[in-house]
Parts: sequence; C-alpha cells; structure tokens
Amino acid sequence: MKVLLIGGAGYIGTHVSIEFLERGDTVGIYDNLSSGHKENILPGVEFYRGDILETHRLNEVFSLGWDAVIHLAAFKAAGESMLNPAKYSINNITGSLNIIIECIANSVPNFVLSSSAAVYGEPAYLPVDEEHPVNPENYYGYTKLAIERHLEWYRKLKGLNYASLRYFNAAGYDKAGKMTGLEREPANLIPVVMETAVGKRKHLEIFGQDYETRDGTGIRDYVHVTDLASGHVKALDYISSQKKSLTVNLGSEEGLSVLEILNEARRVSGKEIPAVYSGRRPGDPASLVASSTSARELLGWTPVNSSLESIISSTWAVYRKQTS
Ligand code: UDP
Repeated sequence: MKVLLIGGAGYIGTHVSIEFLERGDTVGIYDNLSSGHKENILPGVEFYRGDILETHRLNEVFSLGWDAVIHLAAFKAAGESMLNPAKYSINNITGSLNIIIECIANSVPNFVLSSSAAVYGEPAYLPVDEEHPVNPENYYGYTKLAIERHLEWYRKLKGLNYASLRYFNAAGYDKAGKMTGLEREPANLIPVVMETAVGKRKHLEIFGQDYETRDGTGIRDYVHVTDLASGHVKALDYISSQKKSLTVNLGSEEGLSVLEILNEARRVSGKEIPAVYSGRRPGDPASLVASSTSARELLGWTPVNSSLESIISSTWAVYRKQTS
C-alpha cells in the first residue's frame, strides 16, 4: 500500500513509519517539522515538508495518489490547550478538516486518526471501553472528539473509511534504536522524568498527591509506542479490506501511578531524579485505564512491549545515549 503519514516525523509517527516500512509498504511523510525532526525520517521514506493549514501544499501532495492517510499531526499538551485553546482549534480542528477534505477531493479511501483517551474525560467506570460516554475534560480531548465526529459525517456522506485509534498514554522507544530525535519541550510524564534524570530539569513536579488512588498520584495506562504503531497497521488492514470504519481504544489495560513510573525510572537509570509535589493539573482525571477488548477482537491486536520495565528501559536507553 501507499501510505501518507501526516505528522510522521514526530514521536508516534516515526514508530508508525518503522512498522509500515518493515512490511514493505510505500511510505510518505508530510510534516512541518514544528515538533518532529528531519532525522526521524528513515531511509526509504519520501519526505514532503508542509503544514496542514497550507491547503495548496496539501493538495499538491495528495494529488500524488495514496491508498491511505494516517493523521498524526496535532498539538497534544492537555494543560496548554486549556490556556491557549485557539492554537488547538486552528491546528487540530481546522487542520484535520483540511486533510479530510483533501482525502475526498483526491479519492484517498482510508483514513487512520490518532485519537485519544482524552475524549472520555473523568471515567464513570474502569476500565474504559468504547461504549463509555465521551465527555472531554480538557480542550485537547474535545478537539479529538470533534475530528472523530467529522470523520463519521464524511463516512456517511462520502464513504470515507476511517479508524479512530483512541490512544492511552504512548510511551517507550523502539528497541532497535531507529528513532533518534527526542521530543522538544515535552510535557508528558515519562519524558519529563527522563529529562530530570539526565539533569536537564531540576526536578519532576508531581501534579497532585491526594487523588483517590493507591498512592494518591494519578494513574494512567501506558502503552508502548511500538504496540501503538502495530495497531495502525492492523487498523488500516481492517478498514481497507472490510470497507468498514472503526473506533477502538489502544491501551495496555494496566494502570500505573506517577510514583510507580518515577520509582522504576530511578531503578533503571540509577539516578536520584528529584521530585516535588505540586497542585493538581486542571483537566486531569484521577485514573484512566483502557479496556482494549475491541482492538484484540476486531484487529487481533495485542500489546507485547508494554510492560513497565520495557517502557522505562527503552526510553532510558535513548535519553542516556542522546544526552551523554
Ligand atoms: N504528570 C506529573 N508531572 C508532569 C507531567 C505529568 O505528575 O510533569 C502526571 C499527570 O498529572 C498524569 C500523569 O502524570 O497523572 C500522566 O500525564 P501525561 O501528561 O503524561 O499524560 P495525560 O494522561 O495527561 O495525557
């Protein structure tokens, strides 16, 4: 297949490109390199520099003919989206609509979306399955939900096949060390822990110590990015062969607290990793853990790299090397 990865030079996109290349697909990457890196574009990939707000450039690249678009270009800092929503409206919502419209105009039949568990908001029950009501607590989550709904309209109106992949917390690095460009100014827990371990930050701020969880800190479902990437391949195969659309969770089904992550990072790195408690971050639920039963049953997807040890040690290997 000929697959265009939009936002493919970023953290998740690079891992997705590895999976498609490994099975011999033709891979193109469209990216503005605002947070992705040129060095993440692997040999054999055709690179198109462009922004998802530049409709002329999008059209030029879409007219080259693609079997599928994998859309990974989005801002993703939940905290920032509450302070600067316009940035998220424009890039995440307008940018996604531009891509959907180009798919229709250029007869690209399949669309895979990086969606997010943030669409659910504070869970009413755990684990969260796809039947759980959607009620995003932060604006970032709302942007993902809005795109999902547009995809559903375009499925009904224009026959676009889509897969919305609701990621839980993407983490870890490919074991072969193919991805070398680290995220700039990360806001997510594990990269922040790693930057503290290598001395780039003074300490980790732990957002909240009084949640109703086993140790008072937030619980999340961390899923290895290589597992997430294989989910994209399986989802695309499903929608293209079945001519059906799909919305599925991709999570490890295991909840880990901030302190559990921190302690494993201390153990694996042998570093002290100073941490201080600070207040809760607005929009953060106490616990969020997936049920991935649908992905298992419909796609035959199983997370095989998502143990705590595998996530932390693969991440530490990259941070240690990049900063030594
Ligand atoms: N977190 C934290 N300090 C940080 C970043 C995150 O304590 O510097 C906590 C956050 O409150 C949540 C968990 O770590 O409980 C995962 O947050 P992250 O931003 O990585 O992902 P999210 O679940 O918000 O998408």
